[in-house]
Amino acid sequence: MAQNYYEILGVDKNASADEIKSAYRKLAKKYHPDLNKDNPDAANKFKEINEAYEVLSDPQKKSNYDQYGSANGPNPNDFFGGGQGGARGGGFSFNFGDIFGDIFSGFGGNARASNYAVQGRDINVKVTLSFEEAAKGVKRDITYMCTQECPECHGTGAKGGTEYNVCPDCNGSGQVQFSQDTIFGRVMNTGICKTCNGTGKVIKERCSTCGGAGVKRGQRTTSINIPAGIDDGQVVIARGYGEAGMRGGPAGDLLVNVSITKHPLLRRDGYDVLLDVPVPFTVAMFGGKVIIPSLDGKLELSIPENTQSGTILKLKGKGIKELNRNSYGDMLITVKVELPKVSGKSKKEIQSMLEEKFPLDKFDKYNNYNKSVKSL
Ligand SMILES: [Zn+2]
Ligand SMILES: [Zn+2]
Repeated sequence: MAQNYYEILGVDKNASADEIKSAYRKLAKKYHPDLNKDNPDAANKFKEINEAYEVLSDPQKKSNYDQYGSANGPNPNDFFGGGQGGARGGGFSFNFGDIFGDIFSGFGGNARASNYAVQGRDINVKVTLSFEEAAKGVKRDITYMCTQECPECHGTGAKGGTEYNVCPDCNGSGQVQFSQDTIFGRVMNTGICKTCNGTGKVIKERCSTCGGAGVKRGQRTTSINIPAGIDDGQVVIARGYGEAGMRGGPAGDLLVNVSITKHPLLRRDGYDVLLDVPVPFTVAMFGGKVIIPSLDGKLELSIPENTQSGTILKLKGKGIKELNRNSYGDMLITVKVELPKVSGKSKKEIQSMLEEKFPLDKFDKYNNYNKSVKSL
């Protein structure tokens, strides 16, 4: 059973898309690794939150998850797909070194002795996108340091890939008995043989490329498709592109933390694109055209006559593509009427001309406002 994504986000099963989004935003902020450098648990929590949101924000994945407990639907073979939480949730990715320090180490030792795959760690990387790249989606090659299976020994750690002896400490069983003094008295435990790490085999001669580790650290470049609509602070998870697993264990994930640079003019509100555009008062009065930037390049925007300052003009569907959906936000343009600065000789002349043409009783809103003030 996959982890309960609703519990992770702290929302009800019937929560709306907006409720899910807002819960996600709150938690993602709270557990962001950058803000929790002293709390190693936060990174895991952050990942869980992103995993949950990735599923619950996608109608198809959410419906699969609600029905089958997995984002990928009823496919029993899909072990490391969207329902991966299940594979990891039950203590699967334990740290091998912890086992011997643990009084309960006997538990599970038998079951795991022959098959104790250890999952590789996740790697966090940062990627900075422009406003347009985030809105439209982009493919990025990301280069990072990472352990990968040693190409020379194919992860075995043995020279030539095949040379092994039976482990002298466990005689090939992979397990050893050991006694431990505990508060309950002396306890006999069965544990995994440290010498061979439970494989029952020891390497005759170490692989010279990786020194017997089976993995090698080096630079790796992974091409990541960052989906259109991604927002600042969100994370793209590339499954299996993290540190190599040990002894057949799955690799960790690559967590691509997205940050978005500011656009000089455009702003973002959810999937809507916002723009303030200064409009000369003559254009606002008599109508005209202004050039605006948009996600589709520069556009000519018509300003209708008698447009008041603060009017919001809407270009439907000219916003950002919604993440995992086939719909788009809008572009909302706020008109900021600009008055000219008048000075010099003509100032008096213009003033008396305007006051004559536009006496105060011609301003409806102004007069209604004054009436309201009076009645207070
Ligand atoms: Zn052994
Ligand atoms: Zn090697």
